Amino acid sequence: MSVLQPVRGTHDLLPEEACRHRLVEELAFDIARRYGFGEIITPIFEFTEVFSRNLGETTDVVAKEMYTFADRSGESLTLRPEGTAGVARAFISGGLSQHLPLKLFYRGPMFRYERPQKGRLRQFHQLGVELLGVEGPQADVEVIALAAHILQALGLKDDVRLELNSLGDADSRAAYRQALVAYLSGHKDKLSKDSLDRMERNPLRVLDSKDEDDKAVVVGAPRMVDYLNDASRRFFEDVQNGLTAAGVAFSINARLVRGLDYYCHTAFEFTTTALGAQGTVLAGGRYDGLIGQMGGPATPGIGWAAGIERLSMLFGGEPPVRRPLAMIPTGASEAAVALTQRLRHAGFAVELGYSGNMKKRLARANKVNARAAVILGEEEWGRQAVAVRDLDTGVQEEVPLAVLEDHLARFR
Ligand code: ATP
Ligand code: MG
Repeated sequence: MSVLQPVRGTHDLLPEEACRHRLVEELAFDIARRYGFGEIITPIFEFTEVFSRNLGETTDVVAKEMYTFADRSGESLTLRPEGTAGVARAFISGGLSQHLPLKLFYRGPMFRYERPQKGRLRQFHQLGVELLGVEGPQADVEVIALAAHILQALGLKDDVRLELNSLGDADSRAAYRQALVAYLSGHKDKLSKDSLDRMERNPLRVLDSKDEDDKAVVVGAPRMVDYLNDASRRFFEDVQNGLTAAGVAFSINARLVRGLDYYCHTAFEFTTTALGAQGTVLAGGRYDGLIGQMGGPATPGIGWAAGIERLSMLFGGEPPVRRPLAMIPTGASEAAVALTQRLRHAGFAVELGYSGNMKKRLARANKVNARAAVILGEEEWGRQAVAVRDLDTGVQEEVPLAVLEDHLARFR
């Protein structure tokens, strides 16, 4: 361990990457706003129970990935591994049930102690949405259409596909669970130790196993869609019809379950083959039981989260570049400082070289891709003017200080 290295699984976002990261976030939020979503910012840590009680104790996240610590008063706190539980907690503690339906967008860091690899970090970032208070499948359609819209706006339409499944209501899941356990019991010898344990406590988790032997068993498992009762099947059909009406293409993946326990009915993932093993870019589902289970008023919900690092890797767009002006003093530097500040306050981006002769400063102006140089020559200054050189054409003109901003406007 070296304290001068970033902690394993964390990384620094240097300006170019940070810019791309923010661009992805802003683009997503801009579209979410068109669907009526407002931002919620919750703390990055919560009481440990917010996660341990609600995400499911046999899930990977709770069983082995949480950053949990005792604070100085001995309270057990956990750095949030995902966004939904915190939003649900905020909904309850803020008494927001008067304001349904509620459409919330969030973004920020998440923390999971997993094995770091490309696209898998210990501190990563997600953006996501939650739509609370709508029981019907319209909500599912709306949030999935929003997800598809965002991915399309990021230019990822052809790289990602939407997989959809239904976990049904509680009755359907109970029936399916029975069938699944019966099937898995016949293949005990081929299941991993983890899955044998899951089979007892939470058999649906076995479907989500990443173990190759487990996956081979899962291929032959009964399909959840065959165990949906009438109401659940109708719900699932309505979601599919709605998506078709919204112009969102999807395929059914009968093995799709989500990594957390609070889901029911709709479960979905947008996946890509462009990122190697970490193929899921955005995932979500319906969680009607969560808020009630946490002790709040029974409130249906549906949402999704996307990994911003994964989105950024796929996103080909370039952040818009804003070419600055270069201020090049040849004499008194105070005059250059004053003029630089005047232009910055007027809205221009201005690079003021810190040292060097005219030649060096012009080289630096080129390096920062400056659009034009403002040159403070002694002679011009005596006439209350500066020289402005268009760095693309090389054309230079003398410009009176009194009209400098107007003249520079075209270089903004
Ligand atoms: P996976 O199957 O890849 O482990 P997950 O089911 O744990 O994903 P979710 O909890 O659904 O993931 O999180 C939603 C999204 O957040 C993922 O699709 C992914 O884009 C991103 N994500 C999850 N964990 C990480 C991580 N450790 N590093 C980077 N991004 C992540
Ligand atoms: Mg995971």
